Amino acid sequence: MVGVVLVQNTTWTQAAKVVDVLEKNSSLNWQALRDIDDETMWQWLRPAGYFRVKARRLKFLAHFMAGFNDSLTSLFSLETTELRKQLLGVNGIGKESADSIVCYGANRDVFVVDTYTKRLFSRLGWVGQNASYDEIQLLIHNSRAKDKNIFNEFHALIVRHAKEHCLKRPNCEGCPVNFCSKVGI
Ligand code: SF4
Repeated sequence: MVGVVLVQNTTWTQAAKVVDVLEKNSSLNWQALRDIDDETMWQWLRPAGYFRVKARRLKFLAHFMAGFNDSLTSLFSLETTELRKQLLGVNGIGKESADSIVCYGANRDVFVVDTYTKRLFSRLGWVGQNASYDEIQLLIHNSRAKDKNIFNEFHALIVRHAKEHCLKRPNCEGCPVNFCSKVGI
């Protein structure tokens, strides 16, 4: 859950550096995150960028967890819709972040929509360029693949594809998605 906040607008490599620092300082727990002073937190969070915003968001998340006695078991005992709703109520936790926690943390059948997914799906012509998060997610949720293992694999493949071929400026040569209508854009 901490990683979900840290990785916002950066790479996992940068977010992981902060996770390591928190761990080394015995601060990868909700109580410590509530207690750490701002200056220390900013210093530790610098590698992940937007460190002031992320520090504030981690504090919000840690205070939210206090309502569950800092227990993930307690939080994850909520039914999926309620869990998502509660997470979305935390300042700084948007749909992608909430769904990442619901999917990877609570292990529920939820597909996480990210920038890579939006880009690929729109280039494939499956959704419009301005398609909403919910619209894209529904497309997958209404498909035959309703299993978290399939969702996870699909998501991992999309990320890989987006890094190897479907970059911001697409590298279409040799792209395995040979039915893409946007080849050559
Ligand atoms: S053909 Fe180009 S635009 Fe289409 S999916 Fe492949 S890399 Fe992306």
